[in-house]
Amino acid sequence: MQLTFAVPRQTTSIFVVAIDRVPSGLGSVVPWRMCRPHRRCAAEWLGSDRLRLSRRRAKDSPWRQVHAMLGAAGEEGPERDRVRRAAHHIVVTATAAPADQVDVAPTARAAARALATECDGVVVDPLTGAVVFHCTDCAGERPDFTVTDDWIGWRPGPQGTVAGRGLRRFGMPEIVMAAAACGHTLCTVTGARLVADRLLTAHLAFLRDHPLAPTRTIDDSLRIDGMEFTLRWQPGHPTPAPTLTVHPLGPPADTACAKVPTPTRPLPTPARISHLPAALCPTPQTTQEAA
Ligand SMILES: [Zn+2]
Repeated sequence: MQLTFAVPRQTTSIFVVAIDRVPSGLGSVVPWRMCRPHRRCAAEWLGSDRLRLSRRRAKDSPWRQVHAMLGAAGEEGPERDRVRRAAHHIVVTATAAPADQVDVAPTARAAARALATECDGVVVDPLTGAVVFHCTDCAGERPDFTVTDDWIGWRPGPQGTVAGRGLRRFGMPEIVMAAAACGHTLCTVTGARLVADRLLTAHLAFLRDHPLAPTRTIDDSLRIDGMEFTLRWQPGHPTPAPTLTVHPLGPPADTACAKVPTPTRPLPTPARISHLPAALCPTPQTTQEAA
């Protein structure tokens, strides 16, 4: 069977920078204190739909409740308090075709990072529902777009499910991963990330070839490294937001955990998946400890 979804003409990336101290001029930070190559793009796009900045008092901000998206425990806990108490918001928005978000979203996030660095602020990405942390191996935003670079946030859901947030930025339905057959939460999370990475990579390739396509049709089954998954529309589609539920079909239960491949990036931190139980599967747990 196949699944068809509408691809929006445009989507908007939003980054909320929660600050107490307002810079003397936003223009002194963006683009001039941004990292390369995003500085050059920001200089070109600033003031257009591709990069807009607005500042207002937090109590008047449309994102005044943005802290409620964040986990109350783990590494996001202190950030959540800082965001809740912040006096001002600088909102960075980037509107573009989904295919172009691979260019404009990193530049917008680089601008938000630069503003947060200048004002000792915290960046929140409402599309992923997560704090934008600095990565450990680079000073700011990576120069090149990578699908696994925190463009999707994960939250635990009912009955062992894990819900992804952020695929809509690229004109895709969001996904909810059903609990893995083994019942191990970490296996569910690992499967969710594998599926999201595969779906997004294929979707971006489709958009490169068909940038004006109003719809896209995909197969309702996926096979990744010997594991099979089936995709279904979540009941209620297409409102409020199109969401696909993903059900893992195999491999057989006695080998399922051993066959979960090593993720290409560290698994979500406890803050992102704020109240997951301890991992049970030996292979993925080793990966998480290594992260
Ligand atoms: Zn397992």
